[in-house]
Amino acid sequence: MPSASLPAPLDPPVRTLLGPGPSDTHPRVLAAMSKSTVGHLDSYYLQLMDGMQQMLRSVFQTKNRMTFAVSATGSAGMEAAVVNVVEPGDSMVVCVNGVFGGRMADVAGRAGANVTKVERPWGEVFAVGDLKEAIAKAKPKAVGIVLAETSTGAWQPIEEIAAVVRESGAMLIVDAVTALGGLPVEVDRWGVDVIYSGSQKCLSCPPGLAPISFSDRALEGILARKTKVQSWYLDVSMLAQYWGSDRVYHHTAPINMTYGLYEALRLVLDEGLENCFARHRRNHLALKAGLAALGITYTAAQGHQLPMLNAVRVPEGIDDARVRGELLSRFGIEIGGGLGAFKGKVWRIGLMGYGSRPANVLLFLAALEQLLAEQGHQFDGGAGVAAANAAYSSTK
Ligand SMILES: *Cc1c(COP(=O)(O)O)cnc(C)c1O
Repeated sequence: MPSASLPAPLDPPVRTLLGPGPSDTHPRVLAAMSKSTVGHLDSYYLQLMDGMQQMLRSVFQTKNRMTFAVSATGSAGMEAAVVNVVEPGDSMVVCVNGVFGGRMADVAGRAGANVTKVERPWGEVFAVGDLKEAIAKAKPKAVGIVLAETSTGAWQPIEEIAAVVRESGAMLIVDAVTALGGLPVEVDRWGVDVIYSGSQKCLSCPPGLAPISFSDRALEGILARKTKVQSWYLDVSMLAQYWGSDRVYHHTAPINMTYGLYEALRLVLDEGLENCFARHRRNHLALKAGLAALGITYTAAQGHQLPMLNAVRVPEGIDDARVRGELLSRFGIEIGGGLGAFKGKVWRIGLMGYGSRPANVLLFLAALEQLLAEQGHQFDGGAGVAAANAAYSSTK
């Protein structure tokens, strides 16, 4: 007999997720996740782990042996990167120009590091010159930086900074949570020591796994630590025994999440990394053309605007919360508001992974035009959609 007090059956609304993550899950990923659960030491599962590691090395563009997925979200990837590399009392420099650099500094402080924050205003990126002095002074064991700062929409160039960090002997830790799958991430060529991501941004998966990769140099440093890694769950020296050839039980892997990420990585590699990046760029440029026709501008400078996360200024006189609320209630579209310094002033429009499609760009612009018109914003009706269509026609 059904209980009167039983909560309602599960029936989530179908949304179009165009925010800072999670992004829309690819239907093939959802289908993969509904397959029969096997044991975490089943030979079938062990094969999947091998395949997943191989595909993660491809998307990270690395030969790093210790490339796997942490069983938790992107923040656990961040935590795993930091707590394995730094010991209490170590010096760490963290680049902060938005929420996620700030979070990394917090994680490092909690791990007992002496943290030096190098800061840039929100929406801006770091140049080598911003770091040289801090590195000379702090002599850090590690330097942390965010490649795609999801809170500001800024695309951080890494190559030159990586060279300077390497020269100093410090380990370079890179946050690629939003970047991976949407723009080039070249771990070996850049010389990154630890890099992590998340499943729910450009990989078209639900949240729940954090791809991560440690260079051999980083691993050697971790194995030579004087103190135990303060987190049992994230200690890579123990995780290495499960992900390595020994397959020693550590924790129960989230089997069906692994199915999802496995299928998601197959999708990315089947499309081809270059094609995948080009698709993100093309949809970004069409959205940007559409927004420009509505008088809407980006927070990051030209040349540093992320293709998968469009952070734009809310037009003068427009009610930020009302637009976002009605996008969701009337059109089923979720976008993100501003965080911290950008609260109430910025919209964050994600075109990530499976969500990066012309249909989403055109649907969003059409819905936005209607809501802006209702609030008295001045623009030529239809101009946003038309500009996006024109951008698509010119980039076949
Ligand atoms: C989303 C995000 C994170 C945190 O990932 P969660 O999956 O929310 O824990 C970290 N860094 C960046 C740049 C992000 O965009």
